[in-house]
Amino acid sequence: MVQLSDIQRAADRISGVAHRTPVVTSRRIDAELGVSLHLKCENLQRMGAFKFRGAYNALSQLSDSAKDAGVVAFSSGNHAQAVALAASLLGIRATIVMPTDAPQLKLTATRGYGADVVTYDRHTEDREAIARELADRDGCALVPPFDDPAIIAGQGTAALELLEDVPDLDVVIAPLGGGGLLSGSAITAHGIRSTIRVFGAEPAAGDDGKRSFDSGEIVRIPVPRTIADGAQTTALGRHTFPVIRELVEDIVLVSDDELIAGMASLAQTCKLIVEPTGVLGYAAARSLAPQLQGARVGVIISGGNVDLQRFAQLISGTATR
Ligand SMILES: *Cc1c(COP(=O)(O)O)cnc(C)c1O
Repeated sequence: MVQLSDIQRAADRISGVAHRTPVVTSRRIDAELGVSLHLKCENLQRMGAFKFRGAYNALSQLSDSAKDAGVVAFSSGNHAQAVALAASLLGIRATIVMPTDAPQLKLTATRGYGADVVTYDRHTEDREAIARELADRDGCALVPPFDDPAIIAGQGTAALELLEDVPDLDVVIAPLGGGGLLSGSAITAHGIRSTIRVFGAEPAAGDDGKRSFDSGEIVRIPVPRTIADGAQTTALGRHTFPVIRELVEDIVLVSDDELIAGMASLAQTCKLIVEPTGVLGYAAARSLAPQLQGARVGVIISGGNVDLQRFAQLISGTATR
């Protein structure tokens, strides 16, 4: 299992490369909710999400021969851009397997970081198989999006910085997809002070994490329909699940409507553009607030990669979902 010391070493590796993102507060939101909220703004991280932390931590530890061979990843979202950027900074060749119908913005951004993009048809082809085949053919490492100790340790550095800046937090809340961010955050919080309460925030439409947490076994679901596209995972991982089960107090389910209300609130009040998945923790804090009155609550705002037009449609209620 990943330890706090692994996360501290990851923090050293990414220091000076990743941004130390700001922690934002709002008296208005605090007054409204009756808690003292501290928002760790990973929407302002390089490439727009915390995923840069894990990708850089993982890639920087590859052996020289592995670096020469290059890396492969499959993702339609932030992990693709994170691996592409980390690889380019480290002089590693990256191949990213993305669906043909991925948003043009994301295809362009991934290529813009210098990665080779291999597209596949998401209805007829298996991306994992394609990535594995490429990895086997070229002898390069496959960089998993969450279920990997180096990725988990890297993601845990966001909570580490948050707790350095706000040491007296009572509660930490992080979004939950495959669980890299939440497990890393929980190891950090628990390692620093075991009385810090940690909650995960998951889309209600894809509640595999909550069901796994409650039942004690990894529950697998079909790809959920939610606007939180960064948390459309179908199951927790074998590394992330045991950590979450042991160190997290509960998983809060968040509806798409709550996500939209959260996006509008953060834009209006804090002037923050946050993608739907990025607002999961804040939306969960809003629904937990009645039972956390007076608490100091840290929330990881996990990403800001949303097309502006889509953002406008979502908050004005004119988006197709
Ligand atoms: C990937 C992602 C998540 C979920 O992270 P996991 O480590 O898969 O749980 C949350 N928010 C954003 C913005 C993401 O890109």
